[in-house]
Amino acid sequence: MRRRAIYPIFLPHAGCLHRCIFCAQVLTSACTTPPDPASTLAAISASLPPGGNGELAFYGGSFTLLAELEQERWLEVGARLLAAGQISALRISTRPDAVTPAIARRLAAAGVATVELGCQSFDPEVLRRAGRGHSAAAAAQALPLLRAEGIAVGLHLMPGLPGADAGEALHSLQVALALQPDFLRIHPTIVLRGTALAKLYESGEYTPLSLSAAVQLGATMLRRARAANIPIIRFGLMANENLDRGTAVVDGPYHPAFGQLIRSRLWFERISLLAERGGRSFRLHPADLADVFGQRRSNFIELNSRYGPLTYECSETLPRETIESAGVFYSLFSEKD
Ligand code: SF4
Repeated sequence: MRRRAIYPIFLPHAGCLHRCIFCAQVLTSACTTPPDPASTLAAISASLPPGGNGELAFYGGSFTLLAELEQERWLEVGARLLAAGQISALRISTRPDAVTPAIARRLAAAGVATVELGCQSFDPEVLRRAGRGHSAAAAAQALPLLRAEGIAVGLHLMPGLPGADAGEALHSLQVALALQPDFLRIHPTIVLRGTALAKLYESGEYTPLSLSAAVQLGATMLRRARAANIPIIRFGLMANENLDRGTAVVDGPYHPAFGQLIRSRLWFERISLLAERGGRSFRLHPADLADVFGQRRSNFIELNSRYGPLTYECSETLPRETIESAGVFYSLFSEKD
């Protein structure tokens, strides 16, 4: 299913009651000057044609903890664009403990179709050490309130926080999947300049996941989410100049195409399994070929060196995320078959 376009408006740290130890919204959103509703409305009105099916998204803070008047000013921007037919819905991000029945009703009445909840972990100790200030149960309380108003709910998870390991990441994923969200976003923890986490890192009290460990963990999480039929709509922070030039990143598994590394890892494991059983020629959808070969053809080179020359044939008639070997189709996501 084709996803609707998202037009993000970043409101860095808007409504935040305090700073979580990992968070530096100005760096991750590359937004140094907070936008104001009037100029935002003018800019978007001028750039979006009527008949748009996208969503205007308020990201970068805890929208529902903004002063009510401030929320109304932003929701009014959305209302004007909705009335003009330039977007079809609104989306916000907030904390899981910042949703009440009244808030859920107000959001739905304003045209908010999707709420993204920053859960980060479902381990109470990991949440405490990250300075989140909400309980592991908060998302389970917020989700039905939003659903009751017809609002779709996405959950965010952050593997690799202080005190967390792969077991924590998979446990938090399991809890998240059991809540049956509409989607997940998974951002491995990055040490960003100027954060409390950077101080812990510099004092030797925190070590982030390596890129290869984060990719392997992400691959397992993606398999499990697919098995549960819950989409992961994004892996890793959205690339921007601060992150790509390295000025914002002290350490951690940042990669501008982190999601592709994960898909390539799954293809590597899938094809290795088939090659170990004697498979040497494969057929697949052409749109999967870049992930199959991997960045800088790393999979292609490594698989050839392990299993001898492998051949790949593409056909648009084949389903995506599936590979055919000796007339049998295999899903990218199954661990063994
Ligand atoms: S993670 Fe969310 S609640 Fe925490 S400081 Fe950042 S924007 Fe605020």
